[in-house]
Amino acid sequence: MKYVSTRGGQSVALTDAMRQGGAPGGGLFVPESLPRVSAGDFSPDLSLSGLARQLLEPFFAGDALEPHLPQLCDGAFDFPVPLTIPDPARPSLRALELFHGPTGAFKDFGTRFLIAALDHLAGDDDPFTVLVATSGDTGGAAAQAAEGRRGIHLAVLYPKGRVSAFQEHQLTCWNDPVRAFRVNGDFDACQTLVKSAFEDAGLSRRHRLTSANSINIVRLLPQIVYLADAALKVWRSSGILPGLIIPSGNLGHGLAALYARAMGFPIGPVVIATNANETLHEWSQTGRYRPRPSVATLANAMDIGAPSNFERLDRLGADQRAMGVERVDDASIRTRIRDDFARSGYIWCPHSAIGAEAWHRLPEAAREQCVWITAATAHPFKFADIVEPLIGQTIHPGPALKAVLGRTTHRQELDPDLNALALALSGDPEQPAGTARRA
Ligand SMILES: *Cc1c(COP(=O)(O)O)cnc(C)c1O
Repeated sequence: MKYVSTRGGQSVALTDAMRQGGAPGGGLFVPESLPRVSAGDFSPDLSLSGLARQLLEPFFAGDALEPHLPQLCDGAFDFPVPLTIPDPARPSLRALELFHGPTGAFKDFGTRFLIAALDHLAGDDDPFTVLVATSGDTGGAAAQAAEGRRGIHLAVLYPKGRVSAFQEHQLTCWNDPVRAFRVNGDFDACQTLVKSAFEDAGLSRRHRLTSANSINIVRLLPQIVYLADAALKVWRSSGILPGLIIPSGNLGHGLAALYARAMGFPIGPVVIATNANETLHEWSQTGRYRPRPSVATLANAMDIGAPSNFERLDRLGADQRAMGVERVDDASIRTRIRDDFARSGYIWCPHSAIGAEAWHRLPEAAREQCVWITAATAHPFKFADIVEPLIGQTIHPGPALKAVLGRTTHRQELDPDLNALALALSGDPEQPAGTARRA
C-alpha cells in the first residue's frame, strides 16, 4: 500500500508518511485506496489485537513496518474496550468506553501505536526527537508511550495555565526520554513553536525531529480498529447495522468511522458531534467550509475551529462521507451530564456527553430503529473539576489514573521562542540548561 497527499504528487511508503507527519505543501497523506472487507472475513473469536492485525495488514503491506505489525498491535490494544448500556431504560444507546488505557482517553490507542512504530523505525543508535504540542490528552498518551524507549526523545509542550490540574500532572510525571515543557503562552503559541522548529532545517536534521500530532496517518489507522470491532459485535448479535456517534473536533475520530464504513464494516449512519465550535456544523448545513479561530468550551480537547483532517474528508466520495453533524453547546453538556447521572448513575466526561446529547436529539424513530454506539472518549475523572459539581459527588479515578497520580512530576519552563527551545533540546535531559529548571 502506498500513500498520497490530498494535494497530489508522488506516492510514498507508509514509514515516509509517518516520519513526515503532514505532506509537503500543507496536504495530508491518505492511503491510495481503502482495502475492502466483509464482516464474514473476521472471526468472532478474534481478540481486539487479533482484529487489529488482520484489519491493518493491507495498510502495512510492503512497508518496513510490516514485520512489526503484530507486536505494534499487541502493544496498543492491550486494555479492554467495554461496549456498555449506560441506561437500561434506553437500550438502543451503547457507550464504547475508550478510556480504560493508561492515560484515560482514546488517544492511548493511536498515539501509543505511533510512538512504538517510530521507536522501531529509529533503532537504538539514532533516536528521533518527537515534538508534541498538546492541549491535554495527546501529550500524556505520547509521554506514557515513550517512557523507557531508546529510539525516541520526547518533548511535550503545553500552555501554562490552560490545562487542568490532573492534565498537568499527567503531562509531567514521566521519566526519560520524556521532557515536559510548560510554555509561557497559549496552545497556539506551542503549536507555532513546534512548527518553527520543523521549519529550521538545521535544528530539524540535528535532532531528527518528527511529530506525533493528530494528522499523522499512523495515529489515525488504529482508530478504525475498535470502531470496527464494536460494529461487528452489534451486527453479529442483532443483524442490525449500528449507527456511530463520534464526538470530534479535528475529525480524526470522525474520519476513522467513515473509513471503517467505506471499507465495508457493518456501520449504518454516522453522526459527528461537535462542541460549540461551528465550522463543521455550518459546513454540513451550507456546504461552505470556513475555518475560524476556536472558542473555548467544557470539552477542551475538541476546541477546534479549523479541523485539520477536513482535507481527508473532502477527498472521500459523496456516499462515503455522508454523515450528520450535531453541535452541542456548554449548557447542553452540563444538562446532559446532570440528567443522565440522575436517571441512571452513568457519568459522562464533557466530550462523551456531547455524543450522548446528539443521540437524544435524533428523531425518536431513528433512535429506536437501530442500535447507536457513541464513543466515550475520556474518563470522567480527567475532568473532575467540571463533572463533580454537576453530579454532586466525587469520581473515582480507576486503577490506571490512580497509578498516574502516584508519580512525582518534573517540568521545565520555556519561553515561546525558537532559540530557547533549541537550547533546551540540546541540553542533557537530566540537567536542563539555561532558564529551564526542574519544578
Ligand atoms: C482528542 C479528543 C477528542 C477529539 O478527537 P478528534 O481527533 O478531534 O476526533 C474527543 N475527546 C477527547 C477526550 C479527546 O482527547
